Amino acid sequence: MKNCEVCAAGLSEIFTVKEMMLGFRDEFEYGICQSCSTIQILALPDAITDYYPPYYYSFTEVIPKIKPLPLMKRLVNDFRIKKRYRKNENDQLKWLKPLGVRPSQKILDIGCGNGKLICELFNIGFQKVQGVDKFISKDIDYGHGVKVFQKDLSELKKGHYDLLMMHHVFEHMSEPLEELKKSHALLKKDGYLIVRIPVVGKAWEIYRDQWIQLDAPRHFFIHTEESIAILAEQSGFSITDVIYDSSGFQFWGSELYKRDISFVEAETKAYRRAVDFFSEEVLAEYEHEARRLNDSHQGDQAVFYLKKI
Ligand SMILES: [Zn+2]
Repeated sequence: MKNCEVCAAGLSEIFTVKEMMLGFRDEFEYGICQSCSTIQILALPDAITDYYPPYYYSFTEVIPKIKPLPLMKRLVNDFRIKKRYRKNENDQLKWLKPLGVRPSQKILDIGCGNGKLICELFNIGFQKVQGVDKFISKDIDYGHGVKVFQKDLSELKKGHYDLLMMHHVFEHMSEPLEELKKSHALLKKDGYLIVRIPVVGKAWEIYRDQWIQLDAPRHFFIHTEESIAILAEQSGFSITDVIYDSSGFQFWGSELYKRDISFVEAETKAYRRAVDFFSEEVLAEYEHEARRLNDSHQGDQAVFYLKKI
């Protein structure tokens, strides 16, 4: 039997997970590492692109129009961004805030799709934002230096970036250690990589194969703090912080799967909305429970801050 791809220990339990986001309901085998507890797919699907149809959410995001800051605002940009961090003014800044990323620093969003987040960051005042995604059809140039490259990480400029971000991308990568090593090479000295991923937590214990964040077969790995620590060490990073950012989605999404309801509606291809299935009270309780779990590092997703050493 196969061993853990992260730490090479044996897998303790093999189980089957259905594709439920799109409602295909085909089955995939996953295993749990008996040492680092990472959940991993046993065999990569032959045609993974079939599971990313054109209506998959990251292909249909609306991109805001690029608007450079007027000169007066550019002159006080550092001050403006600091104030926004303080006041939690923009959702897009909540991951950058713990690092106090400055608007003049070079940022690369890895696996960014069409580049929605980098366009939003540019409009907030970050002047050197780029993205990379090898699964888009061609490079995209939004102007003012805002570009998305259709490339592998190994093809980008080494030692160039202050900050790399992977927002719910790392769990889709078949060779996580290799991708971390490539990321390491792209960073300047003391640069940071932010990795936001689903993690094995309480929701896994409650819902098992019906847990929405297993997301078979798109998620190849569902990591743990332990597996990220192993990979970080092997790729030249130190973990400086781990912040749990799970939401009520872990409950209401998994409750849908428990009722055998796919996340995308078969005919309309629309994504389900929580309010169509659950009362306000129930949803408030789910959010409350998510915050409680986050505080005790048991939520089902987290942000890892990795510093290049
Ligand atoms: Zn392991």
